Amino acid sequence: MRKIQMVDLKGQYGDIKDEVNASIQEVIDNTSFINGPKVHEFQKNLENYLGVKHVIPCANGTDALQIAMMGLGLKPGDEVITADFTFAATVEVIALLNLTPVLVDVNPDDFIINIDAIKRAITPKTKAIVPVHLFGQCANMESIMEIAEAHNLFVIEDNAQAIGATYTYKNGKKVKAGTISHVASTSFFPSKNLGCYGDGGAIFTNDDDLAHTIRGIVNHGMYERYHHDVVGVNSRLDSIQAAVLDAKLPRLNDYIKARQQAARKYNAAFKNIEKITTPKTVNGCDGVCDTCDCHVFHQYTLRLNGVDRDVLVKYLNDNGIPCGVYYPIPLHNQKAYRDSRYKEEDFEVTNQLVKEVISLPMHTELDDEQIEFITSKVIDFVNG
Ligand SMILES: *Cc1c(COP(=O)(O)O)cnc(C)c1O
Repeated sequence: MRKIQMVDLKGQYGDIKDEVNASIQEVIDNTSFINGPKVHEFQKNLENYLGVKHVIPCANGTDALQIAMMGLGLKPGDEVITADFTFAATVEVIALLNLTPVLVDVNPDDFIINIDAIKRAITPKTKAIVPVHLFGQCANMESIMEIAEAHNLFVIEDNAQAIGATYTYKNGKKVKAGTISHVASTSFFPSKNLGCYGDGGAIFTNDDDLAHTIRGIVNHGMYERYHHDVVGVNSRLDSIQAAVLDAKLPRLNDYIKARQQAARKYNAAFKNIEKITTPKTVNGCDGVCDTCDCHVFHQYTLRLNGVDRDVLVKYLNDNGIPCGVYYPIPLHNQKAYRDSRYKEEDFEVTNQLVKEVISLPMHTELDDEQIEFITSKVIDFVNG
């Protein structure tokens, strides 16, 4: 059996080596390292893939969030609601811009920001909601956009983990994750579903004026050379990273299918194991139906019930199986983000999830033998 990896970038590269190398070589040959034609090509191809009017590439997913918030003109003191159970980047940029983060609880079954918790958190100072499409599926965007409209709020989808996922409206209309809210961000960090070979990110929007504003912000606030109209940043996707991404984008749908196949096999193996809850989807399907693509499985995350997780992690590691705990500490309990207004009872679900979740190896190169080995070891352990 091949060695099991949490994310197998090397195995994936083996299959696409010729395309990726040729694409990178092109950039080196024409030395267009910054803002070269590859960046523009990738931007256009991603706009087409997503069905969104504007993709604005930038340096990483954290910058993408920050720039989106700058573009919306959020001001110090404005309250921004986001999920307690996610990676810290989201709350970090809110705090960095001197906005006020308001963390709220998530759903117990799909790990995604809870609609009632959002409603309860709205005050006259609330200006924006940042739903995170955690682990590969969309938050309940239809409800979130309704709340936003009723309260005149901006919505920024953090789509770092769900690029390529499909969101289905109640009336059956289907759109890609990251194209629903006023503006969205994504990350091309190497382990993300569409990853480059370094740092990268992008902002998406269908709003022409906002796209114009953001194109200036990513380039020192310049709309005309050496005229700085707003305070900006230097945040660019370099051409070599764009070359990698442009070579990988045509494979994204196959990569998603490979992840869904792995998830389907995991789900089947754990189906009747009492101490394991497999990931649920917002659509209520098993997340791996062939039609809806609602879940692109950035992570495959189980909830454990009555299992000593630390001992399980050690047991799996001892058997050559890497695994992860995303995320072990609620953001409201992180030193940097504590706030006297938070009450523990408002984070009942997150407080429970951080104790119970475990993420198994999930990538495009998992084979049946590896999945069989992983599931049998997990089941052996939990069944004692
Ligand atoms: C990875 C990630 C980010 C940050 O992306 P970087 O490119 O690493 O800056 C932001 N939000 C979420 C939910 C992420 O998973």
